[in-house]
Amino acid sequence: MFDLTKIARENILNLLPYSSARDEFSGGDGIFLDANENPYGDLNRYPDPYQQALKKRIGEVRGISSEQIFVGNGSDEVIDILFRIFCNPGKDKALTFSPTYGMYDVSAAINNVELIKLPLDDSFNIELENTLPYLEDANLKLVFICSPNNPTGNSLSTSAIETLLQKCKGIVIIDEAYIDFSSQQSLVNLINQYDNLVVTQTLSKAWGLAAARVGLGFTNPAIIQLLNKVKPPYNVSALNQQAAIDALSNTALFDSNLESILQQKEVLKAELESLAIVEQVYPSDANFFLVKVNNADGIYEQLVADKIIVRNRNKVVNNCIRITVGTERENKELIKSLKNIK
Ligand code: PMP
Repeated sequence: MFDLTKIARENILNLLPYSSARDEFSGGDGIFLDANENPYGDLNRYPDPYQQALKKRIGEVRGISSEQIFVGNGSDEVIDILFRIFCNPGKDKALTFSPTYGMYDVSAAINNVELIKLPLDDSFNIELENTLPYLEDANLKLVFICSPNNPTGNSLSTSAIETLLQKCKGIVIIDEAYIDFSSQQSLVNLINQYDNLVVTQTLSKAWGLAAARVGLGFTNPAIIQLLNKVKPPYNVSALNQQAAIDALSNTALFDSNLESILQQKEVLKAELESLAIVEQVYPSDANFFLVKVNNADGIYEQLVADKIIVRNRNKVVNNCIRITVGTERENKELIKSLKNIK
């Protein structure tokens, strides 16, 4: 049986969280002289610390109840708070599958937590047999699974993920930052089945709000309570909450932008595959491609000279660059530039 009180850090379980003025009185009507705010202006009041209007809208879009939603200042904040809740610095461990999103490594290092990085196989899938022995370690508190995975673009097998959820005594995080681009189903509904699951998503990608910093964590109310205990009281600004509500209310714009990106993705794939300098375009369920080329460093530099910036992943996957799908015009410029490289 999964027991959250055995997994979370003792000091966090015992923590008396900061009680803000809005915790003590949350009504909307009245004369507010309780938070040392300025009585003048449009942005003079602190935002709702629990982002209730935004959570209601997210719940409607995702078919999830508000009690199962946490909103972070980007999903990077959710990742960092998970380390702080579950990992005793210098003692506990986390695990992920490389190559993957770099912030798991950085957050682990900031929190002085060892991150075990198990290599994905040649097709960028989890090697389950190699992973299972690590799950026996009582100090292993977090397992990060990025699906679709950044930078490889593929989705990881649902059955492997479910096996990890069943065998892992700690928390499993499925990072679905790119899920809206994928034809695969989100695994968010598994939070009703597994008490040790946190699914993260973000409004930074398909919802087009990278500047607004709104990340989402979906999990059971017991873990949500711990996330709320540790987060800064007003972690998402009123401007950002409103931008998110507006974006989530304009689903027609979301649908049409998503359709354009997915259509351009197919065009870009065909164009890339026709180039002599391209050795392989890896299958992608996201809005980017990992592309194996004959000389990643040289191609990267030549693109920069043409003012086209891609991500050189040569140090992570040999001779690979990662290319985000842009607008039709941007993709054409990219291909034109690549065609000039010998
Ligand atoms: N997870 C993955 C896999 C990502 O690629 C990114 C952003 N590059 C994030 C999380 C962070 O997203 P956010 O903007 O919500 O912090």
